[in-house]
Amino acid sequence: MWKYHPALLARPVPRYTSYPTAAEFGDSVDHADMAAALDAIGVDERISLYLHIPYCHEICWYCGCNTGAANRTSRLAAYLERLDEEIDLLVERLSGRGRIGRIAFGGGSPNAIPTTAFASLVERVVTRLRCADPVLSVEIDPRGFDAEWAAVLEATGTTRVSLGVQTFDPAIQSRIGRVQPVEDIERTVALLRGAGVTSINFDLMYGLPGQDEASLAATLETALAMAPDRLAVFGYAHVPHIIPRQRRIDATALPDAAARFAQAAQAHGVLTGAGYRAIGFDHFARPGDALAQAAEAGTLRRNFQGFTEDQAEILIGLGASSISAFPDRLLQNEKNTGRYHLAIGAGRFATSRGLLRTAEDRVRGRAITATLTAGSADLSDIPGFEEVRERLAPFEAAGLIGWAGRRVTLGGDALPYARGIASALDCYRQQGHRFSSAV
Ligand code: SF4
Repeated sequence: MWKYHPALLARPVPRYTSYPTAAEFGDSVDHADMAAALDAIGVDERISLYLHIPYCHEICWYCGCNTGAANRTSRLAAYLERLDEEIDLLVERLSGRGRIGRIAFGGGSPNAIPTTAFASLVERVVTRLRCADPVLSVEIDPRGFDAEWAAVLEATGTTRVSLGVQTFDPAIQSRIGRVQPVEDIERTVALLRGAGVTSINFDLMYGLPGQDEASLAATLETALAMAPDRLAVFGYAHVPHIIPRQRRIDATALPDAAARFAQAAQAHGVLTGAGYRAIGFDHFARPGDALAQAAEAGTLRRNFQGFTEDQAEILIGLGASSISAFPDRLLQNEKNTGRYHLAIGAGRFATSRGLLRTAEDRVRGRAITATLTAGSADLSDIPGFEEVRERLAPFEAAGLIGWAGRRVTLGGDALPYARGIASALDCYRQQGHRFSSAV
């Protein structure tokens, strides 16, 4: 059973989907850095693609994603045209180099665009970039998902889908502006299974307004009855000063820090008790799932989509706000769709922010990833090791970590503290307070 150490969770910490994190991105990089990174890709180098659709049919009040209402057909069509042009820019620059093994569609909600547009987008990416049998994954909003969408997922060979579920409690759904009856999720799961989707993920949340352990228990039970292959359980971060749409959420109904911790522990206990393997600090997977196998084999990785078994060193993001990751740089496209249009329309990549990773960034990044994915990291190469050890002393005193020389290993009950432990290795993080609480 996890033990609650409030002092060790008091400091807001990043999720470390990259290192350095997006908070360190600056505007000293541009389209030329993207072009240079693409030029350096080898003929057979493995690449994963991410395409961002920044639109949703309905906007949820808690959502921190870069998305807007898909209420104007012309706006969607114009965006998809630019995305096509960005694909053309990429095709031209790569000139046949690189091997694309995975294509992920996220957002927003990729199913906010017409099915025909989705099918032609997949077709265009696969044929123009000459992808041989890529793994296709799509984030789906169950609201409005129907047989037509299931058919297009089947036709495109999509095998992985992530569903935004969050909670099955109707009262809480109303409080967060995302009403979706359990029958809609059941119908969506049945359609996806029928369409040959072999890996279904549910995103769930704790720390929601009015949520208590009974409500979370009911949600977990309902979710388990649908047998998803994976689950991700995130704590709701209420930051209305950063995400104005969250002002509609009643902050007085939010569980306090101790209740949030109890809910995180509850979800972990229920899901592992049901046979799921805990993956990192917030994912769970059935033992046969590729994510669980990667965790077992010690090959689990972390990227902008969370924990992953994807081994590609290069992730190319297309669309407004998407981030591309190369071993030596992180490059983000314009978040603003208007400016994204202008850049692509002018025939250049839409890179607007990012950074070049230093050798030290890469050493620290590897150690942070190992801490979060394997629960153990060799810190021999980390500059200022003694300072790091000092910062980790409170975690050691609480029995959450142990040392073998310069290797730190997290104990079995250290999962909720993993981000805090990782942040001790982060040289950018020794002052700021710009992140969410670890639990
Ligand atoms: S459907 Fe997903 S991306 Fe769209 S507003 Fe809701 S949470 Fe955000």
